[in-house]
Amino acid sequence: MNDYVKWVQETLKVLGYDPGQLDGRDGERTAAAVLSFQQDNGLAADGLVGEATNNALLLALNERIGASLINDSLAARQNQDVLALKNFRPDEFACRCGCGLDLVMPLKHFAQELRDAFGWPLTISSGARCPPVNQDDGGVPDSCHLSGEAFDGYFAGQMNAEVMAAMADFAVARGFGVIRYPRELFCHFQIYPRNSIVYS
Ligand SMILES: [Zn+2]
Ligand SMILES: [Zn+2]
Repeated sequence: MNDYVKWVQETLKVLGYDPGQLDGRDGERTAAAVLSFQQDNGLAADGLVGEATNNALLLALNERIGASLINDSLAARQNQDVLALKNFRPDEFACRCGCGLDLVMPLKHFAQELRDAFGWPLTISSGARCPPVNQDDGGVPDSCHLSGEAFDGYFAGQMNAEVMAAMADFAVARGFGVIRYPRELFCHFQIYPRNSIVYS
């Protein structure tokens, strides 16, 4: 058993090669894994770990660990977002056709803030919309919904001119644009432009 050979085996394993048992013994499978690694990395392929192969293993390991750290922190961010958006399902803002187009995060957080501030369940009647869905819903061709930068929402049974004006003020105070639809009793919120309009 040799600690260095064991490190080589563990590293190869992490990198997706099959060095056999991680036993610190320099057997055939370890040599074969070293050979594959050398071939994949443009190194002289002799199955022996010299300085160049050692350095390439170190580099590949660092890249792999770095990538998994980044993935971990992304996953952690996403979990935080799920927790922060406590009154909404993760897919509630996405395009309804299932294409995967999603609302931008600042608007999701804004929806939660709005819901918290008013204390009523907020129904998202339209979130992100891919072109076919946008057309289906009668959206304008340059709709902000197309890029996931707008959503429509209402408080069921609570909508009137006063509430809608308060919702609009709330949005503008947080740097979002809003269009009120007094007849349909919903508000459209968008990233840009940041103005407040009443649709008539
Ligand atoms: Zn879609
Ligand atoms: Zn809209």
